[in-house]
Amino acid sequence: MTCQPTIVPPPEAVDIAALRERYLHERDKRVMREATNQYVRATGEFEDVYAQDPHTAFQPRESISEDLDVAILGAGWTGLLAAYHLKNAGITNFRNIDHSGDWGGVWYWNRYPGLQCDNDAYCYLPLLEETGFMPTKKFSAGYEIYDYFKLIVKKFNLGGAALFQTLVTGLRWDDSIQRWHVTTDRGDDIRARHVIMANGLLNIPKLPGIPGIAEFKGKMFHTSRWDYEYTGGNNRDPQLDKLADKRVAIIGTGATSVQAVPYLGKYTKQLYVLQRTPSTVDKRNNPSTDPEWVQTLQPGWQQERKKNFHRQAMEGIPTPEPDLICDIWTEITRNLAEEFTAEGWPALTAEQAVARREQMDYRVMERLRARVDGLVQDKDTANALKPWYRYLCKRPASNDDFYPTFNRPNVKLIDVSATRGVECMTEKGFIANGVEYEIDCMIFASGFEVSSDLDRRWGIDVIEGRNGKSLYDHWRDGYTTLHGIMTRGFPNMYFTGYVQSALNASTTEQMDLHDRQIAYIIKELNHRGVTAAEPSQEAQDAWVQHMRETAYDASAFTRECTPSYFNGESAEKPRSYAGDVYGPGWYAYETVLKNWRDGGNLDGLETTNV
Ligand code: NDP
Repeated sequence: MTCQPTIVPPPEAVDIAALRERYLHERDKRVMREATNQYVRATGEFEDVYAQDPHTAFQPRESISEDLDVAILGAGWTGLLAAYHLKNAGITNFRNIDHSGDWGGVWYWNRYPGLQCDNDAYCYLPLLEETGFMPTKKFSAGYEIYDYFKLIVKKFNLGGAALFQTLVTGLRWDDSIQRWHVTTDRGDDIRARHVIMANGLLNIPKLPGIPGIAEFKGKMFHTSRWDYEYTGGNNRDPQLDKLADKRVAIIGTGATSVQAVPYLGKYTKQLYVLQRTPSTVDKRNNPSTDPEWVQTLQPGWQQERKKNFHRQAMEGIPTPEPDLICDIWTEITRNLAEEFTAEGWPALTAEQAVARREQMDYRVMERLRARVDGLVQDKDTANALKPWYRYLCKRPASNDDFYPTFNRPNVKLIDVSATRGVECMTEKGFIANGVEYEIDCMIFASGFEVSSDLDRRWGIDVIEGRNGKSLYDHWRDGYTTLHGIMTRGFPNMYFTGYVQSALNASTTEQMDLHDRQIAYIIKELNHRGVTAAEPSQEAQDAWVQHMRETAYDASAFTRECTPSYFNGESAEKPRSYAGDVYGPGWYAYETVLKNWRDGGNLDGLETTNV
């Protein structure tokens, strides 16, 4: 079926100047000087309650002391794809090391009711053509993704050496043996020639630093540690029947909460949804995979689909090509393409194109706000649920049951924006807008350490390169790398994802490219008998300079946004969770890496053969 544009108000019905003023006003209400410091780490007294693994019983084991070719920190998508590409490159002496009890990364930890991927599964799930697997729906359930991890591990025989329930606490380069000492909370000393940092972005839960949080005597847990013992049900069949006599509150209305709230609303005696900033929530439209469509797919279809997704969602350049994805991520580009078609594809200057996109952004947000009125009966509740910011200031969501849940008599939305969050917790519950609410359980849908400082986000106590230099100090004033993958002074250490590289609309595609590049580098180093490699100062400086010269400055946009992890919780000093982003874009970045590989000389790397 051809993808249709959405119906948005005409340009003349949208007063952009007035809306912009309203957006800035709402942003100012939410700005907090503390930025990411408003959150507390889920460690120490909070560790037991919020960070323990509810999914896998602890398995004691002996400490390991060994030499290893490659330690891969993480067993989520990045770690799995690293293992896959290493194996394809003929490197087999590697271990994935992960705090979790199994493969899956975020899909291991997050099992809350209603969990689905918000991205098109035919793009998001990697290696579909290689495995022959086909997701059952456009948006996969969390457990389908978790199962798919297992399928990949089994099919490509990647799992044998993985170390689970193992938290890496230290990484120290040892020049005398030309290896990294990888130390863990299990007393291991793994001497790894190479270390791949596949440690993810959404791996460490964060808690709002609400005064009195430790006073509460009832049950508490973070959504990424869902306690089905307490709620009843399980992630494949989330009938939360043990909540029938419980008063529950959930903090947060981000992508997680939007999916969990309908289940909580259905099963609890009383649900309080504590909202500081509303999300945009569009309809879901999650059709089952059409077997006839599958029959039509030709080899290379997944890459083509990913390209289509990236062009529509990330590059945002309307073209006459069809929108294969047809969801919340591609709406603005799709709508513009429809209008440009009607106008005979006018030649626009860059400024005009940006202005048209901005106008469509305001029109789409008007549509989304009107949608709330159509679904929520109580006018005050509907108004409180309306988002006042530009699209993509916060991560968009889609769910058919979120708004109707607020029509249930047992569900109450509590707007805590006036106090910039929940005022305080007490022994019996919480205080919001001066009123104490007694509850049995508090659920934190408060997100992850995404845009905090690196040491907090990674949670590894010590990362020391040559001469004991800390990586956290090394990057204190900004990232310095070659291609976002290696940095001088930290030999044989490889970074993935969000340091200094381009962004792809499919996170997994982004990680896959880095993993492929890293596997290539390690293979070549092994082939040449190299024991240590790091960027030369010149090559690193050149890359940093190139990044700066070609950077696309999005700070004007992010400064005007309501705080979120997208702008580092600070509208005043925005900081992208994505690190330094390569201005020329994804395909230019891919070409840089390919040309570098094609050069065949490991250009810009200084190598040691001991
Ligand atoms: P978010 O960080 O997006 O949301 C946290 C929520 O907690 C926000 O609503 C925030 O409010 C609120 N909050 C924080 N502190 C307080 C406070 N003191 N008082 C009241 N409210 C507070 O976390 P999520 O877990 O929802 O999502 C994290 C990310 O995980 C997503 O953006 C997405 O990338 C990923 N995810 C992906 C999914 C998918 O693909 N299926 C599903 C779910 C998550 P405020 O906005 O005001 O800061």
